[in-house]
Amino acid sequence: MTNTPSGSAPLKVLCITGWCRNGSTIIGNILNEIPGLFHVGELHFLWKNAAGRGVNEDCGCGRKLVDCPVWSTILPVGQPAGTTLVEHADTVIGRQLSSVRTRHTWRVLRGLRSEQLRAHAALMTEIYQAIAKRTESRVIVDTSKVPGEAALLAYLDGITPYYVHLVRDPRAVAQSWSKPKEYVYAMGPGKSTGYWTGFNLASHAIIKSYPERSMFLRYEDFIADPAGTIDQLLRLIDSDTAANPLTDRTVELHTNHTVTGNPDRFNIGATVIRPSDDSWRTKLPRSAKRTVAALSWPLARRYGYEFGTADGKG
Ligand SMILES: [Zn+2]
Repeated sequence: MTNTPSGSAPLKVLCITGWCRNGSTIIGNILNEIPGLFHVGELHFLWKNAAGRGVNEDCGCGRKLVDCPVWSTILPVGQPAGTTLVEHADTVIGRQLSSVRTRHTWRVLRGLRSEQLRAHAALMTEIYQAIAKRTESRVIVDTSKVPGEAALLAYLDGITPYYVHLVRDPRAVAQSWSKPKEYVYAMGPGKSTGYWTGFNLASHAIIKSYPERSMFLRYEDFIADPAGTIDQLLRLIDSDTAANPLTDRTVELHTNHTVTGNPDRFNIGATVIRPSDDSWRTKLPRSAKRTVAALSWPLARRYGYEFGTADGKG
């Protein structure tokens, strides 16, 4: 059924889904410190960013993706002979747009029913296997957070996906999106919460489909107990918790090769996971809190976020 050579275990992909600004980059970078685990960042954007069509072209190592010692060897994988990187990237981006957008998630969960999906699945199988070989890893941590790509993972030969549906309070997310951040543009509270709802509904559909290999996680619970949360993630992928690199709240981060993610991904050295940032309570305007509450409350309440308090509604 799979292309896995006899005697070797399938490659594991730990896939974090959910809407942006949810803490996935730092969780990925902590896991990246464990031997055998490799954090690719937001792999979905590899072609877009490498071809200069995205918002940044830099790998977490500080080099351009096309010059990075890891990605320069992965980018040609699956590229038809006689095509340029940009031509190949445009083909991949076209397939992503037509087959693995958030609204396609439910269709992908039902099977690979289009030529575009089958072609994208074949490419991603080759890509993940090439990354594992190049980086000598047995678990790839992918924080793309694109639910359509996450759903596709279940069909890749020789790969066993594990899912983390990561959610953060939509008011904190709206506050985070309210200001531009290096290569990341700003977004209003209505738009942010619209995406928050769509991405979380799609992520929920995925973990419902694969409950035995999935976990629901709130950013706030990670922040309350970072080391305990990393232990939980390691148990999910059947890895030894003794390898957890966090000492209380501190981790020593080394250079990573994340495709993209939160601009904090470039930070290396001793890093402290600080207790919860509640600045949205005072900084997010009342009108924005009302917008977020109106758009998100049924789902947000299901995730344990309370509205209607003085802080919550302004
Ligand atoms: Zn790199």
